Amino acid sequence: MKNKEPFGKELTKVQRVELDACTQCGECLKHCPVQQVTGRPEVSPPEKIRLFRKLIHETDSLKSKIFGEGDIDPKLFQDLTNALYECTVCGACGQSCPVGLFNQRLWPVLRKEMVKRGLGPIGPQANMQKVVQETGNPYNEAPEKRYSPWFPEGVKLVEKSEIAYYAGCTGAYCAQPMVRGDVLVMNKIGEPFTMLPPEDEVCCGFPLFITGQHDMLKDLTERLVNAYEERGVKTLVCSCPCCVNIMARDWPIFYGKELPFKIRHITQFVDDSLKSGRLKIKKGLKERVIYHDPCYLSRGVGIIEEPRSILKHIPDIELLEFDRHGVDSRCCGSGGAARKVFSDNAIAMGRLTIDEAVEKKADKLVLGCPACYEKVNEALEGHDKQIKIIDIMELVAGLI
Ligand code: SF4
Ligand code: SF4
Repeated sequence: MKNKEPFGKELTKVQRVELDACTQCGECLKHCPVQQVTGRPEVSPPEKIRLFRKLIHETDSLKSKIFGEGDIDPKLFQDLTNALYECTVCGACGQSCPVGLFNQRLWPVLRKEMVKRGLGPIGPQANMQKVVQETGNPYNEAPEKRYSPWFPEGVKLVEKSEIAYYAGCTGAYCAQPMVRGDVLVMNKIGEPFTMLPPEDEVCCGFPLFITGQHDMLKDLTERLVNAYEERGVKTLVCSCPCCVNIMARDWPIFYGKELPFKIRHITQFVDDSLKSGRLKIKKGLKERVIYHDPCYLSRGVGIIEEPRSILKHIPDIELLEFDRHGVDSRCCGSGGAARKVFSDNAIAMGRLTIDEAVEKKADKLVLGCPACYEKVNEALEGHDKQIKIIDIMELVAGLI
């Protein structure tokens, strides 16, 4: 296969250096959840980097400029595409890398390079852009049903407010107890808040970003930012770590300037309310709970203490920790939009999380991400170890 456009054009200078800096030491293999469940080095971080470097060499080296590109073995494209899309983009490899590669950001850019050439995305991901265009969400769900049947009865929203809540597609369609819990807790705090009409609360863009499909990102960002600005919003609260990640890190880039409001994760908002006394947890819970850090919350935006602080506000609770927690958290298997394509991997990773929670004798496994919630619950089905899975706000909502 010939490919006229040189590889590596989407990379920043730092990312070009990062590719060169990988020593192929293999340290990251010990931390990669895909390696843990597949044991296949051909989908490992150093192998992806080795193949990508080869493509840069074939298409953008001095030799290629003087003598022209040779025919590139189609297997090289295929192998790299598969390896890039089997990854959950959890970032554990970068976290453990002695060279300090920022892989949570590097892999999506390499995926973008594959998309540019029609090599990615793969499986159902390939249809995602069209689906988001038509429905506003990546799940092909009816936009008018976005807030049903989970939106709690009796909760009154206001038209304009300094505080807005964004449910997000995965929460609204795939993890409804989680977003219901968010709204119940926000309502209990008592500060008026607004939400967009269901048809206007479109996708934040993360699933497109992470699969390398960037065409719609500017448009989605502008639609949402302008809609919240019109409502006078100063703080946008959201519980999905992936939404928070793209809103905080990338929306200002797609929007072209600083956002007119702050992005707060629900655990930050609720922790502030508990500390200021605006919210009180009245009932105790005499149980051992274990909290799983979502990759895009802990490694992604450094929100680690707030969920733990909320849990510690619950009288009588005992908080346990996974061996890998905080920035070292192990992916639950749902990340990188890989869970729909490589479902067996995702189930196997989810079961590692369940197994450790059960081994540590936790009564409840507490999650804080809708993708984790959906997939770990699926992993629980038919598994020989069982535990009660609950979202952090679902838990808090039952105790206030
Ligand atoms: S991002 Fe996660 S799944 Fe992907 S290669 Fe790195 S450690 Fe493995
Ligand atoms: S740990 Fe870092 S330097 Fe070593 S192989 Fe992995 S990505 Fe490359």
